[in-house]
Amino acid sequence: MAPACDPVAAILAAPHAFARLELPLAPVEVATVRSHYRRLALAVHPDKCKDAKAKEAFQALSEAFEQLSSDAGQAQLLRAAGATRSSRCRTATAPQDDTKAHWWDTNTWEEFEQRLRHRERAEAALNKQYCGNLRVKFTTRKVRGYVFAAERSVEHLDRQKGLPESLLWPPESTQAARDLEEEVNRARQTELYPGQANEMLPDYRERLELNDPGLALQRLLELMTHLRTVHLYCLYCGCTYDSGEDMERNCPGVTEEEHDEAKSMGLRDSATSTGAEAPEEQPGEDPLETFMASIDAELQGQKKRKKHR
Ligand SMILES: [Zn+2]
Repeated sequence: MAPACDPVAAILAAPHAFARLELPLAPVEVATVRSHYRRLALAVHPDKCKDAKAKEAFQALSEAFEQLSSDAGQAQLLRAAGATRSSRCRTATAPQDDTKAHWWDTNTWEEFEQRLRHRERAEAALNKQYCGNLRVKFTTRKVRGYVFAAERSVEHLDRQKGLPESLLWPPESTQAARDLEEEVNRARQTELYPGQANEMLPDYRERLELNDPGLALQRLLELMTHLRTVHLYCLYCGCTYDSGEDMERNCPGVTEEEHDEAKSMGLRDSATSTGAEAPEEQPGEDPLETFMASIDAELQGQKKRKKHR
């Protein structure tokens, strides 16, 4: 007995992300966004609703939730709504095809709920760790670093799984970036002044939006949620787990802090095993160090590439 799903039509007809979540076009408490999302998700999740367009509506609803689930994200959308004439404004509400894997794409409602809970835990933990931190400048730089690393991991793991390009990949890895590069290469053949064509290439390292701590954190949350739920990959452990239970058991948590704590406990307790089954199967090297080293290597690579051209 499938219930009638009026919300499906309402969501698909909504003019903006706020309306999709039955909210007015104005700043709103993130907790309210979350509760609206939960309620509407239950109404239109394909596992719960037999409407032919349920999947489409659920997809649109989830994208809206992702955009509105931070103050910074809301502000960005409100600015865009106030300046729709600007063509330089990013199309934050561009419809995405449903072949892409999102954390909310699950076969069952149960799995969806599990992933949503996971995301909420990650969100709370990240906020606790990075927001209200007095060393904002330091933290923002750090979060930027994690965003870059996470984007690369998403691209790598998505490619491995044969998933198509997505907005979570590094911007320089997209087809649009490759097209631009090709265009610049062609322009180089004919340029009057050497280096002129290079001006056309954006500086992908700049990423001004990530200087906003709220937006940077939101991006990191999206990336980490994707890595942890779609790929069972932990950025801080630097490895992929066999199953959700495996991850639950062996990964210390969703924040860097929890990993640091677990690591120092591990160092102290290495002689006296505390757990019944100590998960000592980690590779010998410190994952965080490896991670920082990979950032260093990346930066070195950048420098070298710059020198070459
Ligand atoms: Zn971990």
